[in-house]
Amino acid sequence: MSKMDNLRAMREARYAEAQKRSAAAPAKPAVRAPVAPPTPKKAPEQAAAGDDLCGHRNISGRTCTREKGHAAKSHRYS
Ligand SMILES: [Zn+2]
Repeated sequence: MSKMDNLRAMREARYAEAQKRSAAAPAKPAVRAPVAPPTPKKAPEQAAAGDDLCGHRNISGRTCTREKGHAAKSHRYS
C-alpha cells in the first residue's frame, strides 16, 4: 500500500468515526483549525547567497555573508 493510499484509508476511517459520533452529538465541529501561524524558516539575508556578497572564505571553508566590498574590517561567517 502506498503512502497516499494509507493516508486516504486513515482519513476515511476517521471520517466514518466522525459520522458515527456526529449522529450522537451533532453540535460538535468536525474540523479543528490550526492555531499557530506558519513561521519563516530562514532570514532572507541568509537565503540570498548570490553575487552581492563578499564571498571571502575563512580557514574552515565558511563564506563571508557581508555585502560585497563591506566597510567592516572583519568578515562575518554566520
Ligand atoms: Zn567579507
